[in-house]
Amino acid sequence: MTVSSVPNIKLLIDGKLVESRTTQWRDVVNPATQEVLARVPFATAEEMNAAVASAKQAFKTWRKTPIGARARIFLKYQQLIRENIKDLAAILTAEQGKTLPDAEGDVFRGLEVVEHAASIGNLQLGELANNVAGGVDTFTLLQPLGVCAGITPFNFPAMIPLWMFPMAIATGNTFVLKPSEQDPMVTMRLAELALQAGVPAGVLNVIHGGVEAVNLICDHPDIKAVSFVGSTAVGTHVYNRATQNGKRAQCMMGAKNHAIVLPDANKQQTINSLLGAAFGAAGQRCMALPVVVLVGEAQSWVPELIEKSRSLSINAGVEAGTDVGPVVSRAALDRISGYIASGIEQGATLELDGRNPEVPGYPQGNFIGPTIFSGVTTDMSIYREEIFGPVLCVITADTFAEAIALINANPNGNGTALFTRSGAAARHFQEEIDIGQVGINVPIPVPVPLFSFSGSRASKLGDLGPYGKQVVQFYTQTKTVTERWFDEDEVVGSVNTTITLK
Ligand code: NAD
Repeated sequence: MTVSSVPNIKLLIDGKLVESRTTQWRDVVNPATQEVLARVPFATAEEMNAAVASAKQAFKTWRKTPIGARARIFLKYQQLIRENIKDLAAILTAEQGKTLPDAEGDVFRGLEVVEHAASIGNLQLGELANNVAGGVDTFTLLQPLGVCAGITPFNFPAMIPLWMFPMAIATGNTFVLKPSEQDPMVTMRLAELALQAGVPAGVLNVIHGGVEAVNLICDHPDIKAVSFVGSTAVGTHVYNRATQNGKRAQCMMGAKNHAIVLPDANKQQTINSLLGAAFGAAGQRCMALPVVVLVGEAQSWVPELIEKSRSLSINAGVEAGTDVGPVVSRAALDRISGYIASGIEQGATLELDGRNPEVPGYPQGNFIGPTIFSGVTTDMSIYREEIFGPVLCVITADTFAEAIALINANPNGNGTALFTRSGAAARHFQEEIDIGQVGINVPIPVPVPLFSFSGSRASKLGDLGPYGKQVVQFYTQTKTVTERWFDEDEVVGSVNTTITLK
């Protein structure tokens, strides 16, 4: 019998990193090399219940911790993330595949939320109305809910966990996080840094697993709210199951984002933006642009789109100058290849075929290069389904109105972008387009944490988005206090059996 030298990923329960007693493990694999980096446990029910129990116990004191003390932990935490950003990015690239600069961006977009959490004192403010009736004041308290939980996807293993637990904890809740089982290593490093920053034992717990862990979170009576980011099928399941159990739920889900290019757009800038958004992170972003609608004369830009796509460098994420790294797994590679085959079969024109690229030094990597289809119609699988790979579908439209109608007819509502030099067209677009996040000459309009992530329609369930101001509402219960004080011996009127406040 050989003893494995691969490290086991720990659970974080009650402030301690503990080895799981499970018999079910999964390998965490480097997508560029197939090297097994670690083994992740599928936690037992006992371990997951212990994590929730620890969070429930910790809530008793954490909810009473002064807001300034909570904020100072996040001031320290942002400093630690900043100091460790290179190491975090290296872990992320190893397990997820994206390029090192993009991995740093992943961490950085999460760091921005941590900075925001450090200003919780200005965010968790109630309202007060003075003298709403004779001598009566009304004010609101925004009080934490208790134990909250988060379930995250593989594609942003730093940013998305950081969308969740910092704001949940800053508002006075305790948290149980279940990262993606495909790439949990950077998330664990971030959890360790949170402990180092002063997050007390039990306030943040991390469990690992898949379906059973997700269902336990949805069902556990001591969990009050669930934040989910991932695919539409799983998010819908989580939303239904969690809300049926009386929990709050917010689910950010799948996408099929379109760009519209008007003929007056700045051509080179637009092509660069389109290719960055279609092929960056190998197309594995929920805000990627996998569909471009070329309007009128912009249809003549296809050869340049193809030509420039050919120049992108496909290589391991650790190699300098890489534009497109490997996709996360063999299963993802097979799924994407299957979609490309279906596009050909269903009659689209394969203008650029990224399958089976030569990547010297990385013969085992899950590589697929930029792939472009033209002649795509809305009945094809490559248009209707989320491919989540570096595949760009080109659609043509005669008019701007036709392009807008096409996007509004698609069920997804995550993001969109318009490329134009016309202010009037841009304003018309922002008013008429039925999508949650709109970019005007901005290809990936993910809002900074002064705002909240705002996907809509089939891309989101639940009213309130992650981070920003909305999440303060999500993670707190509004309590309205109406009060009146009397001077000594003061009596106002007599017994009053009507409902009025006078
Ligand atoms: P996924 O839905 O497969 O996994 C998300 C989480 O759900 C993981 O933690 C996973 O362990 C769990 N899970 C997977 N299958 C499950 C099942 N059958 N039952 C219960 N739980 C299950 O998503 P993914 O592949 O990790 O991530 C990619 C998806 O996430 C894409 O659809 C992408 O658009 C979406 N996404 C959306 C946003 C957004 O903000 N809207 C952001 C990032 C990613």
